[in-house]
Amino acid sequence: MSDPDVCGHCGDKSMLKGDIGLRTSRDMELIMVVRKDHGVEKKVPLQPSVCGKCGFVGLFVRSPENLRITTKDKPINPDYKHRPLLEYDF
Ligand SMILES: [Zn+2]
Repeated sequence: MSDPDVCGHCGDKSMLKGDIGLRTSRDMELIMVVRKDHGVEKKVPLQPSVCGKCGFVGLFVRSPENLRITTKDKPINPDYKHRPLLEYDF
């Protein structure tokens, strides 16, 4: 795994320390991660990291296992055409 203190863009060890939050200017809604193949939207906390040198912003999903599509997940659009779940979806 790469060093979280090292910028993935400029390679400088200038990533800002500490817990950094991002939010939209209008509300506090979580960024939504959308699995477009399934029409499923997942709410997952994103952990941003910001390089103090070049400004590069990286995002990490705190609980990547939550992005897996399960049989309980329903497409947000009821007209969404179902695609059968494939092995690589899990
Ligand atoms: Zn950088």
